Amino acid sequence: MYKALTIAGSDSGGGAGIQADLKTFQELEVFGMSALTAVTAQNTLGVHGVYPMTVEAVSQQIKAIGEDMGTDAIKTGMLFNAEIIEAVSELLVTYQWKNVVVDPVMIAKGGASLLQQDAISALKKYLLPRALVITPNIPEAEVLTGMSIRTVHDKREAAMRLFDLGVKNIVLKGGHDEDPSESVDLLFDGKEFYTFSSKRISTKNTHGTGCTFSAAITAWLAKGLSVLEAVTKSKDFIQAAIEVEIKIGHGHGPTNHWA
Ligand code: PLP
Repeated sequence: MYKALTIAGSDSGGGAGIQADLKTFQELEVFGMSALTAVTAQNTLGVHGVYPMTVEAVSQQIKAIGEDMGTDAIKTGMLFNAEIIEAVSELLVTYQWKNVVVDPVMIAKGGASLLQQDAISALKKYLLPRALVITPNIPEAEVLTGMSIRTVHDKREAAMRLFDLGVKNIVLKGGHDEDPSESVDLLFDGKEFYTFSSKRISTKNTHGTGCTFSAAITAWLAKGLSVLEAVTKSKDFIQAAIEVEIKIGHGHGPTNHWA
């Protein structure tokens, strides 16, 4: 039985965060475990409240898993503050967990902050050097690299800068690109650049796509696939999930997990 652990925030609306991660693990037939970093009161209309867990509560959840069950891969999502980032990073070293996927969640689509401003430097200093894969969108990559990303050349430059921070594989997601017809993701493994294009779909049901995509990569890494294979399969998985619309709530709905 392959196992995956998500260290992330709860989305009461079930579209993003821990809920999206566990649903994705289950669909991909990987045993899902979780360590909650924060609870959000959230629905398709937005984030109505953010309630962080204590550092001790986060650490104890991870230790409970590390000391008994172990895991084949891990993803981090919403980590909220610098203290939680430092504690999580230390435990990744304690348990020698290698298949670490970091989704550097910063701001929800509705604008709510899911990471405190002063936590960015902790993310770069402690967590990124331990990441096998990072999956930033363009605004997140801009914050992490301090550069503006407009062109293909900029994307490559940003990926190289993230590699220099110690991340082994960078998946720069193109969902925020200005191109109206396609969305192009870039993977950089320190040597080669790979591009993954997909048709842009006109939908407002994209809540939780980033969480689902990084959870899918984590699940396939847990099953022993290479990073390139895991990213390729996850791109197809998320595209299928966005294509088949479901109608839940009055705002930005979740993606379809049964596509
Ligand atoms: N809420 C939580 C708890 C999350 O972890 C995430 C992840 O990015 C979001 C919300 C973001 O949701 P959205 O896809 O709407 O930006």
